[in-house]
Amino acid sequence: MSYPHLLAPLRVAHITLPNRVLMGSMHVGLEEEGGDFPKLSAYFAERARGGVGLIVTGGIAPNRAGQVKPFAATLNSSKEGRRHRHVTDAVHEAGGRICMQILHAGRYGYHPWNVAPSRVKSPISPFSPWGLTGRGVKGTIADFVACAKLAKDAGYDGVEVMGSEGYLINQFLVSRTNQRKDEWGGEYAARMRFPVEIVAGIRDVVGPDFVIVYRLSMLDLVPDGSTWDEVLTLAQAVEKAGASILNTGIGWHEARVPTIATIVPRGAFSWVTRRLRDAGVVKVPLVTSNRINTPEVAEAILARGDADMVSMARPLLADPEFVRKASEGRALDINTCIACNQACLDQIFKNQRATCLVNPRAAYETELRFQPAAVSRTVAVVGAGPAGLACAAYAAERGHRVTLFEARSSLGGQFELAMKVPGKEEFAETLRYFTRRLDALGVVVRLGTRADVDGLRGFDAVVLATGVAPRPLGIPGADHPKVLSYAEVLRGAPVGRRVAIIGTGGIGHDVAEFLTHQHVAESEALGAFLQEWGVDAGWGSDNPGRGGLVPEAHAASPREVTMLQRSSSKAQNRLGKTTGWIHRATLQHRKIARLYEVQYVRVDDAGLHVVVQGAPRVLDVDTIVVCAGQTSVVDLVVPLRAAGVAVQVIGGADEAAELDARRAISQGAQVAAAL
Ligand code: FAD
Ligand code: NAP
Ligand code: SF4
Repeated sequence: MSYPHLLAPLRVAHITLPNRVLMGSMHVGLEEEGGDFPKLSAYFAERARGGVGLIVTGGIAPNRAGQVKPFAATLNSSKEGRRHRHVTDAVHEAGGRICMQILHAGRYGYHPWNVAPSRVKSPISPFSPWGLTGRGVKGTIADFVACAKLAKDAGYDGVEVMGSEGYLINQFLVSRTNQRKDEWGGEYAARMRFPVEIVAGIRDVVGPDFVIVYRLSMLDLVPDGSTWDEVLTLAQAVEKAGASILNTGIGWHEARVPTIATIVPRGAFSWVTRRLRDAGVVKVPLVTSNRINTPEVAEAILARGDADMVSMARPLLADPEFVRKASEGRALDINTCIACNQACLDQIFKNQRATCLVNPRAAYETELRFQPAAVSRTVAVVGAGPAGLACAAYAAERGHRVTLFEARSSLGGQFELAMKVPGKEEFAETLRYFTRRLDALGVVVRLGTRADVDGLRGFDAVVLATGVAPRPLGIPGADHPKVLSYAEVLRGAPVGRRVAIIGTGGIGHDVAEFLTHQHVAESEALGAFLQEWGVDAGWGSDNPGRGGLVPEAHAASPREVTMLQRSSSKAQNRLGKTTGWIHRATLQHRKIARLYEVQYVRVDDAGLHVVVQGAPRVLDVDTIVVCAGQTSVVDLVVPLRAAGVAVQVIGGADEAAELDARRAISQGAQVAAAL
């Protein structure tokens, strides 16, 4: 497959980009490290070598008040600028182009010195902002301008002015956060002065030979957000002020609509950029964004004319060679971002360095290396779940001769179950990637083969990645026909209309989704998604609604489901930082009941007997699905060690508690790097 639109050059300001891929801004946590940014430079240089048309850095604050959190990176002195030279040199040596994003967090700043147009606290920060004085507004504009000049001096090809996702510039644009009575508030013309003066001021000091990307919030997804006509007015004004290209922003961080998680259909928001393009009010190229993760999706968006360029951020964490592989006709070799957020965004929210669940080398380029092995050894990897797949592939990449044993007739382990959950279909891409990789690297794959001690003698190294098994329910009646494990359910066992789910971890929530999802044809998936989350698909000039929101419309659940847990309602933080709220909202949409402080007593024909907060109850259900965690499969460890075979144990086999695929893949990679 070729991608003529994706791989076509594009003229932006004074430069010709080799293709239509913009690497969207992502904070990875290396921006704050001291020294000359060696790790950050290696991270960007690898992506530049992979052929991406234009890189945008993570957000850098123009002053201290604009920091996202204490000690976040700022650029407001030439001393700081000199450190950035390392990054720009590395990218240019690798043949790439790079813009620095200027981000002022405004009231999203997670610190007590944050500022905003007005003293209106954000629902996602505990700190109330200080209201900017008129002098403070002018000073902030001057800091944006000075920051852009310093970026130019540091060798950047341009800057991106972050005007979306609910940060400071967005806060000036709408009355929900801008209640000023001076020349920066009131009518829209006054509210938009702030970004327009920033762009004009930057263009003035940087001259024509410098890219200014303006990230425009095209769909706020918050009550009292911008109207479509205001979006059009702003687009024209920032173009006139000197922007070279407009990037699309979708949804403020406080919006209650998923915009990038895996349940969001691919390319779900490119229609918004298309509407701006069709309005014909601006001439500069438009970039569209959100859940674009394969060359096919990107090509289709560009071929339809939704935008001139696509922004991909997480997909370039997952595979720095995305563009090169697409251009060489090797799209099936791309390690696809599955939009899980687990190793990237969730990490950043925990104040830790981002990486990627499917590519543990991301942001660890200088630390995790797969150097050719000094001696090629024979390696047996037992179990082809995520841990075993990663270990086998990376060990073979280093030149070892690897045999991978898998008891089942197909690869994937628990990922085969995960990809059956509606909204997690992307997990199949990881299995496609590793399957191709094993094939290309000549790994001997023995499917349908339960490895045993005899079969494992004689290898130079044995790695056990035998994973986990569902924890059985240890109460009387656990063998009743009403009781099923999550694995049986996801593999297609019949389930009745009234269901109790034991366990409310990630798998309990996934099973609830699986059992209550209303299936729609693929062609209707986007419409159904927008309806469920209250996004106005008809948003436009003849529709004066603010923020692009309409009332949510939820499809009725085909089943009555109750979820139960032994712990109290407070013990709910088993889900991902950036995706847990989506699971919880979905349960509400589907009217799924929750019971806390439950003791499980027995199962019989009457149903599930429980004690809830001290009161006995019988849940009259047709099916009880056990999602009570898992235990490690370690049956081979003792016999192998007794037979004198040295083994390394990874993934769920090593530790079942708190296991996820991120740990499984990362451990597989680490062990392979050291074999
Ligand atoms: P497993 O995936 O359990 O694989 C072990 C493999 O070893 C199996 O294929 C098994 O057949 C094989 N095996 C065992 N013994 C032998 C033997 N003697 N010989 C040969 N083969 C053997 N994680 C996330 O991070 N994010 C998610 O969103 C997520 N969603 C999930 C949804 C569901 C429904 C499920 C069930 C799991 C989900 N997980 C998720 C968890 C994730 O899939 C597991 O953490 C991961 O699969 C563990 O990997 P592993 O390789 O250690 O073990
Ligand atoms: P989990 O998150 O540990 O949840 C296990 C559930 O079982 C809890 O509700 C626990 O709650 C209950 N439980 C534990 N022991 C029990 C027992 N003996 N009897 C009855 N109930 C018991 O594990 P999981 O749901 O199996 O998920 C496994 C891993 O996969 C997770 O760690 C997660 O990281 C990963 N995963 C992630 C996602 C995701 O979206 N990110 C999705 C699926 C899976 P109580 O003790 O309160 O009853
Ligand atoms: Fe994509 Fe998940 Fe990797 Fe983040 S961690 S880049 S969402 S695959």
